[in-house]
Amino acid sequence: MILRRVLAASVIGGALVLNTAQAQTILPDPVTGEEVKMGTQAGLDAWIAEFRPRALAAGIPAATFDAALRGVEFNPKVVERDRNQNEFTKTIWDYLDTAVSDDRVALGRQAIDRHRALLDRIAADYGVEKEVVAAVWGLESAYGTYRGDLPVLGSLATLAYDGRRAAFFEAELIAALRIIAGGHVDRFAGSWAGASGHTQFMPSSWEKFAVDFDGDGKRNLWGEDPSDALASTANYLRHWGWTTGQPWGIEVRLPEGFDYDQTTERVVKPVADWQAMGVRTVFGADLPDHGPGSILLPGGHRGAAFLIWPNFQVIERYNTADAYVIAIGSLSDRLKDGPPIQSGWPRDLRALTLDERRELQDRLTQAGFDAGGVDGRMGPKTVAAVKAFQKARGLIPDGYPSLEVLNLLR
Ligand code: CA
Repeated sequence: MILRRVLAASVIGGALVLNTAQAQTILPDPVTGEEVKMGTQAGLDAWIAEFRPRALAAGIPAATFDAALRGVEFNPKVVERDRNQNEFTKTIWDYLDTAVSDDRVALGRQAIDRHRALLDRIAADYGVEKEVVAAVWGLESAYGTYRGDLPVLGSLATLAYDGRRAAFFEAELIAALRIIAGGHVDRFAGSWAGASGHTQFMPSSWEKFAVDFDGDGKRNLWGEDPSDALASTANYLRHWGWTTGQPWGIEVRLPEGFDYDQTTERVVKPVADWQAMGVRTVFGADLPDHGPGSILLPGGHRGAAFLIWPNFQVIERYNTADAYVIAIGSLSDRLKDGPPIQSGWPRDLRALTLDERRELQDRLTQAGFDAGGVDGRMGPKTVAAVKAFQKARGLIPDGYPSLEVLNLLR
């Protein structure tokens, strides 16, 4: 009854194939524990027939619909990925090792050299620094090298029919059909959840933010030429409030005895206040004043500390994970010949598994610290609950969900 067993029996030539005869396999949802039905090709075909009138009512021409969705394949891998996306996590330091590797920095400098005129024009038009645009490009597709090879329509149709977020993916599928109906691209491939192109836009983001920067009449994020994709990324960041010249953040050093209740995005103070509390740059200099900001400790009190400004929240519009935002920021710094992150990380700690994260939330709640539910996500409520627990036990209340904290609750 476990999906894994069915799939293990169906690995053919390295590819995962789900036998359609095993219709409606039952597997437990990793988050809720509920048993959910696993779809089939026949189920997808029936869903497409049922979806067709809705797509046509949304303005998709029948000829486009029929040509684009003919032969579209059910992809069990994207369903499994969607259900398991919380399961595997890395620590921020493991993530940054890969995301901001020396190789990615070197390739980024080459990419900027190769596209300098383009990136300068984009920076002038949109007010987003070329190193920031290049950093998004570098993280999303290794500067256009890995743009994903799954047919976007297949992924979106599969997830709209069988996923946990059917309405969301159906809207994305309609947006993808509009891209094709508008003649911007014939067919396109991307990563498992339907993000595609040089900077991995979802189709709905293409609709709202893509621009025709090279002036050929098409908003094409998928060709070899990255002009439209990079300008679209700058347009996206500008729309969400990018401030030209404001750093995403800087690495700082906290004074002895610093009040760790202050280390959260929820606390915003003028730089002069942080300075008065003894915060300095990691090199010991006075803090530069870019307006009110927050202190962040993404790896706990033994890791790096950052003073962040509103551009941090703008990058969050791409991906809300602190690790992602810090990777974009740090990579852009490196591309400007700035220093790497100076502080070490608590590399002896490992990331909690999904089961352990849920157990942590469950045990915190039972101990009287409201963790905001048992979903495995270490959101602001869980971090606040960890801090409260640490305080009650006389530990440094940095809010970091470590195995040590979990073991103390056991
Ligand atoms: Ca174009």
